[in-house]
Amino acid sequence: MFAVEESLATDRPLFVCMQTDPSAEVPTQEGLHSVGVAANILQTLRMPDNTVKIVIEGLHRAVVRRMTARESYYEVAVEEIHSKPARDKKGMALMRTTLNQFEEYVRLSQRVAPEIVLSLRNITESEALLDLVCAFFPVRVEERQEILSIVDDRERMEKITGFLMRENELLEIEKTVRERVREQMERSQREYYLHEQLKAIHQELGSAEEGADEFTELRENISKAGMPKEVEEKTLRELGRYQRMPPMSPEGAVIRTYIEWLIDVPWKKRTHDEIDIPLAKRILDEDHYGLTKVKERILEFLAVRKLSKYTKGPILCLVGPPGVGKTSLGQSVARAMKREFVRMSLGGIRDEAEIRGHRRTYVGSLPGRIIQNMKKAGVRNPVFMLDEVDKMSVDFRGDPASALLEVLDPEQNKTFNDHYLEVDFDLHEVFFITTANDEYAIPYALHDRMEVVRLAGYTSHEKHHIARLFLIPKQMKECGLTEEALHFEDSGIKILIDRYTREAGVRELERQVANVCRKVARKVVEEKPDSPIIVDDKKPLDLLGPYEYGEMRAELEPQVGVAVGMAWTMAGGDTLSVETAVMKGKGGLTLTGHLGEVMKESARAAYSYLRSRAEELGISASFYRTSDLHVHVPEGAIPKDGPSAGVPIAVSMLSALKNVPPKDARAMTGEITLRGRVLPVGGIKEKVLAAHRAGIRSVIMPKENEKDLVEIPADVREEIAFILVTDIAEVFALVFD
Ligand code: ADP
Repeated sequence: MFAVEESLATDRPLFVCMQTDPSAEVPTQEGLHSVGVAANILQTLRMPDNTVKIVIEGLHRAVVRRMTARESYYEVAVEEIHSKPARDKKGMALMRTTLNQFEEYVRLSQRVAPEIVLSLRNITESEALLDLVCAFFPVRVEERQEILSIVDDRERMEKITGFLMRENELLEIEKTVRERVREQMERSQREYYLHEQLKAIHQELGSAEEGADEFTELRENISKAGMPKEVEEKTLRELGRYQRMPPMSPEGAVIRTYIEWLIDVPWKKRTHDEIDIPLAKRILDEDHYGLTKVKERILEFLAVRKLSKYTKGPILCLVGPPGVGKTSLGQSVARAMKREFVRMSLGGIRDEAEIRGHRRTYVGSLPGRIIQNMKKAGVRNPVFMLDEVDKMSVDFRGDPASALLEVLDPEQNKTFNDHYLEVDFDLHEVFFITTANDEYAIPYALHDRMEVVRLAGYTSHEKHHIARLFLIPKQMKECGLTEEALHFEDSGIKILIDRYTREAGVRELERQVANVCRKVARKVVEEKPDSPIIVDDKKPLDLLGPYEYGEMRAELEPQVGVAVGMAWTMAGGDTLSVETAVMKGKGGLTLTGHLGEVMKESARAAYSYLRSRAEELGISASFYRTSDLHVHVPEGAIPKDGPSAGVPIAVSMLSALKNVPPKDARAMTGEITLRGRVLPVGGIKEKVLAAHRAGIRSVIMPKENEKDLVEIPADVREEIAFILVTDIAEVFALVFD
């Protein structure tokens, strides 16, 4: 017999209470809470699975006093719990608070009918009120048990109010979250709706005259672009994605830019090119004075290109100081080949991405400069000039040189992969020309693939011709001046070359000519002179202001302790004076003027040589005990290095020690050994041109460099006396008798 049956049979109430452990199938006495409810059974319903469902009516709360185990249930003797009603003021106040909180709960949760609150308001007994409130709001069973066990109604109300407050707070938070979410959803729905309307309006407006919307237009452009099959497929896929994007979304804009890039790079378009050597020769001559050797090299290069049609060959690299015509030669080559010309400077590039582009995951990413310039060229076979390949640098962002190698290498550039485009682009029809100032600063791997053509710089004589034949006509034309308005005399050009510029190329000269033309143009407009303005040797002073450079010869007066050396620089060649001062001391040797390690070592070697040969050279054998030497190379801000200053340093030291100036203004160059042998050095052509520019007419140089003399223009060679030496003793004999 079970408790339910027993209760029904005997008509005694049932005592219901909670198990402390709800999972126990058959609870022990200890496993039951002692506080529970006495109840009458109203209805029983036997279920098909042999369980029984009952409906009970609670009578009152009760606490177990004694418990006896029967066959399959416990029989208990209970004591009814009478709660301590709260009729005082505090109790009333508490009741009101509880009721208010409950009302709030009903409002927030919307799970209880509001009429319930009305009926609750009519209850005056705290016990009844509490029993009802408890029935209507959700608390965990353990908490219910807790409430059930409280006898004092005031205490019970406090507890219940606490639970209600907690619940209300949670509901409040839920509500604000829900509202925020709803607002957001409403906003995006609204936008979507408006965009759709806008689209419809656009279609209505545009359909008549344009006949095509944005997507059909893009689709047409894609099919017109002549892309390779895979690229076209990819582009169409992207177009599909773009179409599915909500209009005007940021992602949509990114995809659209990408599609436009894919359309805009020249996949198919090319100029019909032919290499016609006689024509090329004519064009090169038309655009440039002199440079005979260089032009010949270029023509040979073109001839090979013509015969071997795009097979791998070296890349032409024009090396020389600024303003010697590297870029304009490139332009002439393009003209001669009837190709488009684009130019890109690599100076200062340290990031591989500049060449190869950024991946599209970056905001604002773009293709690399190669692809950008290809788009600019608009054809797949332009002449592409890469300037300053010697000025790239390597850092943590990858090595631009290796990316460039991929661009230039005919094996690899058929499938050049730009990070942004993501598809291969064929560069093998591009004719690349590179330029550099310093051949030795070109990254080795690149240098290896290049055919280097050197442009050393111009003599004054050549500059004169270039100015007369090219720069002056060009600048006059640009300023709208004719022969009736302006005439340059030879003496005027000479002044411009000698006193307003000092450079290996002609860029500065061109600027000065342009300056003169502009000033004259103004005069012509303002004063309307009847006869042409003549630029003679006085006029530049008048137009351009004081000379920028002094008379060269002045600094070449022989002086004690001063020798003239020659240096090779990125801007061509230059002369430098080496100064030595002797003072009382204890054999110190000071070296200043921003000298590099190699140059310092040359100075020490020269010093040791002088010490070891003091007697032969006619200086005090003990000079190193009684005096200090200070060697300085002026223009201290510019770093100087290289072994070729050995000879001038030795001459300068000896001159200072002898207190005799070296004879004549002679420029000298050469490395020396401790035994006084003079070794060959590099950059002879640039150095000699620089000396010639400086007005020096006698040059001392190593015998072994004799072979380099053929490179020097004949007019310069004729004006300069070359003294070839093998030993420093020969030099001393020459300059000090
Ligand atoms: P680079 O590229 O070597 O720095 P550019 O090609 O820009 O020099 O040359 C500078 C200017 O000098 C250009 O206007 C160019 O036409 C002119 N120029 C240089 N060399 C010659 C030359 N041999 N004959 C005619 N013009 C020249």
